[in-house]
Amino acid sequence: MVQKDLGFVLKRYNFRETSLIASIYTEKFGKIRGILKGFYTNKREFSSPIDIFSLNEFVFYPKKSEIWLIAHADIISDYDFLRSDLAKAKVAGRIFNFIERTIEIWDSNPYIFNLIKNCLDLLGKDITVGATRRVAPTLTLCIFLIKFLTLSGFKPELNHCISCQALLKQENAFSVARGGFVCPQCRNKLSDIRVLSQQASRCINYIQNSDFDLINRLQIPAKCQEEVSAVLRSFTAYHFEADYLS
Ligand SMILES: [Zn+2]
Repeated sequence: MVQKDLGFVLKRYNFRETSLIASIYTEKFGKIRGILKGFYTNKREFSSPIDIFSLNEFVFYPKKSEIWLIAHADIISDYDFLRSDLAKAKVAGRIFNFIERTIEIWDSNPYIFNLIKNCLDLLGKDITVGATRRVAPTLTLCIFLIKFLTLSGFKPELNHCISCQALLKQENAFSVARGGFVCPQCRNKLSDIRVLSQQASRCINYIQNSDFDLINRLQIPAKCQEEVSAVLRSFTAYHFEADYLS
């Protein structure tokens, strides 16, 4: 049955002379792969240039084989600010690459779709107020990862010791393999501990539990951001067995 859905273009490559195959993260179907036959013949059905990062409305025919036929594509937003800001484009590229490489096709999760949209909107809103940048592009990557890990069930445990479940008060020792903070007793028994400042652990906690309207106003010192970013990188590299963020 024909379906209509919104989707972000994660990746694209040419197929034969005139067609295009794209990997798309859709709202209802999760990640899909689709072929746009005759894309380069200026078909009226494809009014969108299908650029990477763009949000489009697609009409397609879901079937059992991996590549679905896409009949229509209309552009909703091309996030054109990404073309003029290299730092933002780099962050968006990492987010899209991460999704492309870690998510299986047809694993539907509308929250991930909204997360991508919120992160792109956040990158777009990133404005310099006086001398301070409100949300640096690299922070958007941290926010994406914290939210993504939470949504994917890798929720970093922050309130209880990940090893013995004791309630934590002011812990700052993070176990990369176990994905959470550990108490002083367990800390010495584990070999993969990274020590985080109080501020950095609070920052992760805040991002995990706040929605985007609040995160939008977040101001985090660069040093704290680096800490959060480093721990997230080792955590994701450990769990996905590769560093997809470089
Ligand atoms: Zn413990």
